[in-house]
Amino acid sequence: MTTRKLVVLAAVAIAVGGFFVLDLGQYLSLEYLKSQQASLDAYTRSHPIQVTLVYFLVYVAVTALSLPGAVVMTLAGGAIFGLLWGSVVVSFASTIGATLAFLVSRFLLRDWVERRFGERLRAINAGIQRDGAFYLFSLRLVPVFPFFLINLAMGLTPIRTRTFYWVSQIGMIPGTIVYVNAGTQLARLDSLSGVLSPPLLLSFALLGVFPFIARWLLDAFRRRRHYARWPRPRAFDRNLIVIGAGSAGLVTAYIAAAVRARVTLVERHRMGGDCLNTGCVPSKALIRSAKLLSHIRRASEFGIREAHAELVFADVMDRVQRVVATVEPHDSAERYRGLGVEVIEGSARITSPWTVEITAAGGSQTLTTRAIVIATGGQPAVPPIPGIEDVGYLTSDTVWGLRTLPPRLLVLGGGPIGCELAQCFARFGAQVTQLQRGPRLLPREDPEIAGLVMDRFRAEGIDLRMGHTPLRFEREGPDKVLVAAHEGREVRIGFDELLVAVGRKANTGGLGLEAIGVPTTATGTVAINEYLETRYPNIYAAGDVAGPYQFTHFASHQAWYAAVNALFGTLRRYKADYSVIPWSTFTDPEVARVGLNEQEAKAKGIPYEVTTYGLDDLDRAIADGEAHGVVKILTVPGKDRILGATIAGEHAGDLISELVTAMRHGLGLNKVLATIHIYPTLVEANKYAAGRWKQAHTPARVLAWLARYHAWRRGAAAGKG
Ligand SMILES: Cc1cc2nc3c(=O)[nH]c(=O)nc-3n(C[C@H](O)[C@H](O)[C@H](O)COP(=O)(O)OP(=O)(O)OC[C@H]3O[C@@H](n4cnc5c(N)ncnc54)[C@H](O)[C@@H]3O)c2cc1C
Repeated sequence: MTTRKLVVLAAVAIAVGGFFVLDLGQYLSLEYLKSQQASLDAYTRSHPIQVTLVYFLVYVAVTALSLPGAVVMTLAGGAIFGLLWGSVVVSFASTIGATLAFLVSRFLLRDWVERRFGERLRAINAGIQRDGAFYLFSLRLVPVFPFFLINLAMGLTPIRTRTFYWVSQIGMIPGTIVYVNAGTQLARLDSLSGVLSPPLLLSFALLGVFPFIARWLLDAFRRRRHYARWPRPRAFDRNLIVIGAGSAGLVTAYIAAAVRARVTLVERHRMGGDCLNTGCVPSKALIRSAKLLSHIRRASEFGIREAHAELVFADVMDRVQRVVATVEPHDSAERYRGLGVEVIEGSARITSPWTVEITAAGGSQTLTTRAIVIATGGQPAVPPIPGIEDVGYLTSDTVWGLRTLPPRLLVLGGGPIGCELAQCFARFGAQVTQLQRGPRLLPREDPEIAGLVMDRFRAEGIDLRMGHTPLRFEREGPDKVLVAAHEGREVRIGFDELLVAVGRKANTGGLGLEAIGVPTTATGTVAINEYLETRYPNIYAAGDVAGPYQFTHFASHQAWYAAVNALFGTLRRYKADYSVIPWSTFTDPEVARVGLNEQEAKAKGIPYEVTTYGLDDLDRAIADGEAHGVVKILTVPGKDRILGATIAGEHAGDLISELVTAMRHGLGLNKVLATIHIYPTLVEANKYAAGRWKQAHTPARVLAWLARYHAWRRGAAAGKG
């Protein structure tokens, strides 16, 4: 605790202690007030300003220090100043006192509460940031909740002081008037509870729900305004139209058909979207070939002297297409039609909140629908670097068409896609240069984790150029050159093919979003709320077009919410839960993550403990010749609750599942440790990491007592032998 905090704490403690030690409470009782009413009246008549000032200051002190007596003070306000002036004085004194109490609570406790419960409070804080004024207003209107508790509790939330002040002042006015008015009748008042009759309490409660009713009406009004310019069809052709048949769209349509909704799925290009055709599936097939090649090169490590591989790059790429073709039936139009989904091959455009125009080879048609899910995915972003069009480039969309291995490949971008492809091409024998503006690859991961990947890349001959900013592309005869800025000077890098992997942008163009007024975010994704609703509550977005993550499993996860909310939202809506989202980058070593890593915990100010376990120690990893990598787990200090985990190493993407399950279901490291893991497997690494955590948290005192107990059992003197 800082000195300033100690000083404030001591001042508050002395003031509160003094109040009780000197028994000042006796002056803040109804009986005392009634007994002094006549002399108070007389004194106020002769010294009105002094009385107002002293009353005001005492009121502020009582509320600021959360002392009992605010109700009596309010009654006294009515008795001394009458209804009008009493209400004004009490209104300001109580609000200023409440704000001081709020500030003291925030100053002394907020940081500690954030540190201790930050993660768990995240949802509450988000709610307060969004609707804090509404909550506070309701609490102020209903005097059922103790006044001082609201002040102290609100100090621990992120609500702004200004908001707290004005909402409190306005919200407390009805209650203030009721109590001040009762104070004017002090002589007839027998007890404090007499101020509030059951009918009065009920009307307060109704006032309390007023902000919620007001908000609901406001929402309904906004909705009406958005929808007003669109004629609503009397009946609808479809319950749901899903635009885009990638991971998000397929799962949405599947769920809709499963619950017997009439659903149409529109796809303009290839069923399965990016994941099947140009993303996860081809990239993993390519990685498999590259890995096999790397194993053959390492054959002597495994005792095999003669092992040669003759790479035919075109054959590798043909295999990739065969793999895609083999997986294709899972996402095919035939399969989905069989499941009850109407599949239309065409391009969709939203023409009103209730209508979608579909343009196909045979012409166009417009369908009416109760709800729409936008699942149009994303595409590679290509930065406008001068000369880039002239030298030409590949992206994750077009790289699959290559049939000749480029001798020199320049990869722009150090994210997962750039890294996976860079390593594959290097393993196939291309001379790969990978360029990144920032200081390291995989910038979302912790530095030492990214370091493991970078070390391996360098060992495999990839020329890593970190801290390089592309300036322009040039042609030098047949040669293509990138000119980049690095440490204040220009660097020239020659290449034969350029692969751009600097990020992806959402597919929002041509959808009619602007025309109907569906906004997009600063990053270009469709703006949605936590129910995945756009500005129109019957239009939803899911997958890469919505974000914030761009993974197939995340798209499918969102799809469930989009489908259920779109079809049943009028009965019950579900907020999308993003609390435990895992992902993996399939480089060698693989890097898998769930929850927080260290750099995020630091940035968010969340306290944590780190436990690591090196895979070089793991029997199976040693036997497999893959004894490298690490399991790194962040836990709540002093507890086994997992905040996040990163695994770098062989099959990390598979190994992390156990920790994902543990996090999702609130199981701590003690439970992981108490689970039998098959020997010898790679997944034992999780158990050993949990064991490391346990060792670091052994209760030293208990062990000392156990040592004594065993010594006693051996008949040895305590502490000897
Ligand atoms: C190289 C690469 C590797 C990847 N590897 C992985 C991985 O290993 N694991 C992982 O989880 N994720 C991976 N991803 C990400 C993953 O592919 C995406 O997150 C996922 O495909 C998103 O699904 P989606 O349904 O949102 O969009 P998409 O799959 O892009 O589907 C959108 C569909 O909408 C269609 N469409 C667009 N506009 C219209 C319109 N107006 N009318 C009709 N149809 C339209 C498009 O043609 C497309 O088929 C990878 C991506 C890439 C590029």
